[in-house]
Amino acid sequence: MKTDIEISQNANLENIKDVASRIGIKENELEQYGNYKAKVNLDESDIPKNHKLILVTSINPTAAGEGKTTLTIGLGDAFKHINQSCAIALREPSLGPVMGIKGGATGGGYAQVVPMEDINLFFTGDFPALTEAHNTLSALIDNHIQHGNELNLDPRQITWKRVLDINDRELRQVVIGLGGRTSGTPRQDGFDITVASELMAILCLSKNLSDLKHRISKILIGYTYDKQPVTVEDLGVTGALTLLLKDALKPNLVQTLEHTPAFVHGGPFANIAHGCNSILATKAALKSADYTITEAGFGADLGGEKFLDITSQNIGKTPDSIVIVATVRALKLNGGVNKNELDTENIDALKQGAANLGRHIENMKQYGKPVVVAINKFVSDTDTEIEVLKSYVESHHVKGILADVWAKGGAGAVDLANELVNTCNNEDKFKPLYDKNDDILDKLNSIVTKIYGGSKVELSSKAARQLKNYRKRGWNQLPICVAKNQYSFTDDAKKLGAPDNFTIHVREFQPKLGASFIVALTGKVLTMPGLPSHPAALDMDIDNNGKITGLF
Ligand code: ADP
Ligand code: MG
Repeated sequence: MKTDIEISQNANLENIKDVASRIGIKENELEQYGNYKAKVNLDESDIPKNHKLILVTSINPTAAGEGKTTLTIGLGDAFKHINQSCAIALREPSLGPVMGIKGGATGGGYAQVVPMEDINLFFTGDFPALTEAHNTLSALIDNHIQHGNELNLDPRQITWKRVLDINDRELRQVVIGLGGRTSGTPRQDGFDITVASELMAILCLSKNLSDLKHRISKILIGYTYDKQPVTVEDLGVTGALTLLLKDALKPNLVQTLEHTPAFVHGGPFANIAHGCNSILATKAALKSADYTITEAGFGADLGGEKFLDITSQNIGKTPDSIVIVATVRALKLNGGVNKNELDTENIDALKQGAANLGRHIENMKQYGKPVVVAINKFVSDTDTEIEVLKSYVESHHVKGILADVWAKGGAGAVDLANELVNTCNNEDKFKPLYDKNDDILDKLNSIVTKIYGGSKVELSSKAARQLKNYRKRGWNQLPICVAKNQYSFTDDAKKLGAPDNFTIHVREFQPKLGASFIVALTGKVLTMPGLPSHPAALDMDIDNNGKITGLF
């Protein structure tokens, strides 16, 4: 088997103009970035009601990922094999994981979006633009303090940190403004990864340029000495920040190896942010094709829950079907097998770990939408393991369908595509998990008890103080975006499987008034990741002809 990058470099790409015209995108709606990438500028107000949305989510993953992106891409191609029109909506990769342990986010094997090198690196410049816009605000805040501080901002209570799209643990806590009177006011600051920026969430939830602008104006940047909130609007820089994002707001169009259109746009992580591509990309896909497939990051406890309780409300449409990706490998890991022994058959561990999948199935069923399990086949899976897993899934009264898109492309998911055509025709019975008018603590309790399977929430004294404060300020009606490790239902990354009777510890809340949700930071989750002992970067190279190796 060739490597991902070899397969991608040998791909036969169509000009993006042709991909676009096949789905009815007109020339004046397309801004080409070379021959194979484009931004689109669509009127998304007239999406046909009968177009279907499929959400791909998964069990709690291993560190390498469980193949949601790969499956989303291969499934998109499979719809073509059954003569149905389909488009994909995915997030853009962050350089953090590309250079770190997980690698890129363009799929793998024969289910990839291309050109993978471009998409995994700087693509059309959205992340650099977001990073610059974010840090422009930081610079403007400190400049305001330097030049008289008319707003009376308390430098100890600036909540707007700086960002960088690289895993750089050294920057989590920094002291800035050293160097005397002309170099600013010394204060403690810190860096988050770009994908955790509120601007990223805003970009992904905005309906159009005016919504983007409105949301940016509402961003909370900190508090005054007398504890009053200060926003971007107060600072007077809404216009400057919005114009820096005018191009980044437009969805990017690329294609899969089998020429299925793919809108790849925006990239919040699902552990520390809401975890889904932009709603504009999803709407562009919905407008262009009968079936749209989109991925929500990490497990269904994170990206899945947030898609259903936050993103869907902003799209104005809930998924017609939910696919939970499961792998034999990750379930064995959840059943206690060491990560170096996942290639060896182990039925007992699989049966034990399957409880993780079982909880995700029951969780997703609560939303009242059809659920299907896709078993993403790895070469190490044995026939017995696959049979055991299928019958486990059936015991939960849903279908478990084997998909082999990594090795076979679209041909590997024809059964799954056929099943989804059926389930998407079921009638709409969407039930949200919580009422957004509930108190913040009640909403959090709903997520913890109904999705994680825990028994209660414990707030640190800081979080309890914040909560009281938010109630007074009227921020109580915002949805909750939980920041939690992706490996476990609990806030302890080591507790795998389907644990019961645990407490979720909230150490801090962060009001994201522009994105319109409250982030709850749980356990030890970090908003600036670090690099592993052997980062992917060590194996990358480019030769004198510009040929790249080592990206995956
Ligand atoms: P996720 O979206 O769930 O994080 P990805 O689709 O990005 O996962 O896949 C993670 C990694 O696993 C990628 O490098 C991909 O090529 C690889 N991968 C996915 N499915 C398979 C498979 N069936 N066999 C082998 N490798 C796979
Ligand atoms: Mg993915």
